[in-house]
Amino acid sequence: MNNFEEYCTKFVQAVGSKDGAVSPAIVSSASFSYSTPEMAEGIFSGSVKKPLYARMGNPTNARLESIMAEMDAGVAAIATSSGMGAITLAVMSIVSMGDEIISIGGLFGGTYAFFSETLPRFGVKSHFFDVDDLALIEDTINENTKIIFLESVGNPNMKLPDIKKIAAIADKHGVLLIIDNTTTPLSISTIKLGADISVYSTTKIISGNSSALGGCAVFRAINDGEDKLKSPRYEFLQKFIKGAKEMALIANAKKRALRDFGMTANAHASYQTLLGLETLPLRLSRVSRSIEIVTADLSKNGLDINHPSLSSHEHHQRYLSDFKNGCGSLFCIDFKTKEKAFEFLNKTKLATLTANIGDSRTLALHMASTIYKDFDEATREFLGISDGLIRVSMGLENPEDIIKDFIQASR
Ligand SMILES: *Cc1c(COP(=O)(O)O)cnc(C)c1O
Repeated sequence: MNNFEEYCTKFVQAVGSKDGAVSPAIVSSASFSYSTPEMAEGIFSGSVKKPLYARMGNPTNARLESIMAEMDAGVAAIATSSGMGAITLAVMSIVSMGDEIISIGGLFGGTYAFFSETLPRFGVKSHFFDVDDLALIEDTINENTKIIFLESVGNPNMKLPDIKKIAAIADKHGVLLIIDNTTTPLSISTIKLGADISVYSTTKIISGNSSALGGCAVFRAINDGEDKLKSPRYEFLQKFIKGAKEMALIANAKKRALRDFGMTANAHASYQTLLGLETLPLRLSRVSRSIEIVTADLSKNGLDINHPSLSSHEHHQRYLSDFKNGCGSLFCIDFKTKEKAFEFLNKTKLATLTANIGDSRTLALHMASTIYKDFDEATREFLGISDGLIRVSMGLENPEDIIKDFIQASR
């Protein structure tokens, strides 16, 4: 039984309630009252589990957080205002001036800009590597390395990492591993594979219909006995490990990031995200099947398709062995020139042109003139952004309709 089947049961059961309102309640209050001063004291000390103030969370977010944590085999989760909010929360709760990040794989544009432009302003340096640069990655780890950051699927380069090998390197050197699993929720279990924190943009396939911006960070439990995070490299974490024990990573993230930066999700967005989450397994399993049909057919019709399900892809074997539930909704078409790519986008009748991914509808976008327009040529080459590259996010349409439309648009 794959994750999709298991979660078909879990999600619908967890989102709906069997007592009272079936649909989750939207608790949009910004503040929460405490019935007695003793209760206020207890809430602030953490001994009473009730909402403190909405920046630190609310009951609708909590519902989403507990389901996301269970989905990912984490101990707890924090819902955030966006995917970048989740990445910022995870990263800023760990790094200080002088620290270094090792970033692996073709990165989402926002994350790349955060690491290459914003973090250096605060004295945090990032090193960027291709997914298979394992020896170089090991050589670069030093005592200042605090995070190895990895995307489960290169977006848009479509490279697949060997997550087990990268997690083994992180463990061997005692470095924390963050995986951005936005493209492949349920398809791969990042924390089981060795991630310490997994981050999501729930805006994408988790909400699934462009109705809500959101994100989520899921944290693993700190082990009772030995744990790589109980080392001097993570000195700042030790007091949280003493106090919050297995919940140390989340306690640290709440104090060091959520409280001070305020990237909290709002209840309305969390509600909409819960509605999406409920049908995620159904949608993802359909998209994973459709994308294999569409990429195989378009490729046979002479289009230059980048997707790991094709035997010509450099990570096809990894796709078969490590990504048995597919690798999400993305594939790319290289039209070689911007003119040809624009012609295709002007002729397609089904694709919606937008910067989003993971929607019910099939989406498409020319990469070099939009998301990556501010990047220099060397960076674009590293990220795999060629002049005629179009990124497609497969939707829920009949795959045959997409094939027909894309073939007429490319002629
Ligand atoms: C979209 C995306 C993000 C950022 O998420 P937002 O919700 O837009 O802030 C981060 N990582 C990946 C892989 C994404 O696709």
